[in-house]
Amino acid sequence: MTEQGRLRTSRSLDPRADAQLVRADGTALVDFSSNDYLGLRLHPLLRDRAAEWGARYGVGSGASRLVSGTCSGAVQLEARLAGLKGTEAACIFSSGWQANATLVPALARLSAAVLGAPAVIFADKLIHASLYQGCAAAGIQPLRFRHNDVAHLATLLEKYADTPGLKIVLTESVFSMDGDRADLPALAAVCRAHNAFLCVDEAHATGILGENGRGLAHGLADLVVGTFSKALGCMGAFVASSNPVCQWLMNSGSGYIFSTAPSPMVLGAVDAALDLLPTPELEQTRTHVAALSALLRAQVQGMGLDTGPSSTQIVPIIVGGEQTALQAAQAMEQAGFLTVAIRPPTVPPGGCRLRVVLHGFHTQTQVLTLVDALRNVVRQGVTA
Ligand code: PMP
Repeated sequence: MTEQGRLRTSRSLDPRADAQLVRADGTALVDFSSNDYLGLRLHPLLRDRAAEWGARYGVGSGASRLVSGTCSGAVQLEARLAGLKGTEAACIFSSGWQANATLVPALARLSAAVLGAPAVIFADKLIHASLYQGCAAAGIQPLRFRHNDVAHLATLLEKYADTPGLKIVLTESVFSMDGDRADLPALAAVCRAHNAFLCVDEAHATGILGENGRGLAHGLADLVVGTFSKALGCMGAFVASSNPVCQWLMNSGSGYIFSTAPSPMVLGAVDAALDLLPTPELEQTRTHVAALSALLRAQVQGMGLDTGPSSTQIVPIIVGGEQTALQAAQAMEQAGFLTVAIRPPTVPPGGCRLRVVLHGFHTQTQVLTLVDALRNVVRQGVTA
């Protein structure tokens, strides 16, 4: 890894409310990189509620929920999360990774138990690594359809129409490295026509997109994964689905059964984030982020650079090779901006990019200054 220049490290960077991340030496970078889209991780309401729940329920949860129960706050929070996603029930996990890696094998076991046949999994090519991990844990090779190509999925579903077993379709509402959206109404229609079970990972939509930040899959998916780790400013995740599916996850999901429940302090902060989502303050923040994203895309495209299919707060600037992306990120950092280079295996070779993320705490001036810095990078020939 060292020889290939792929050895990665993580350094000390402390968040500050003014969009800066402060390095160990006291210098700061403007955060165009984290997934704290709404800037909630430092919000006083979340911090206070975390302290309150810590005082009431403890810092830790004691054990797995099937061993020593669940604090009442978490039970109520699950009902609120189901309400957010418009489902019967929800089930909390310690991370989005854990939820995804757990739900796929659990659904596969459901297929075996109820239908007496292995599940058949159809996956958008660009789904998150944790969903692929889930497929591997289930021992099932997913049938991959071309990214956001609903017709290709329909062809595959047709081809396997006579194969017994639960047909599971895995996708995301917003893709993490391209910032584009799935056509969920079309996917839902195709799944309905082929009796397939649609699972949508809403990690990058929950809190930031849709009415009151409820995401984009409302009423369209059979199962939704939401994370607390991005727009909600915390950590952890939840699966929202029907009562029987959530019950099955609680009884068959290894990541639920064999792992200590999330910290009540974190869940308290999530509870506060849910209070904020429908407020005019956050509605305004979401509109602001969308406007900044459109501004950045227009400016970057105006420079002749490729922002891919992005239509959200995630704006990739696709530069090609690894060295180009690394040099561009370094030059941007020298100009005071954290815009991280994304390289294989996260994106395909040749698709290396700066993944630029817009936040509620950014000003238009910061975005335009970032654009100026990028223009200098282009002028210096780094992205040529
Ligand atoms: N799904 C998607 C689409 C993600 O981008 C991520 C995190 N990058 C996850 C799931 C995992 O979520 P978490 O960070 O909460 O484990």
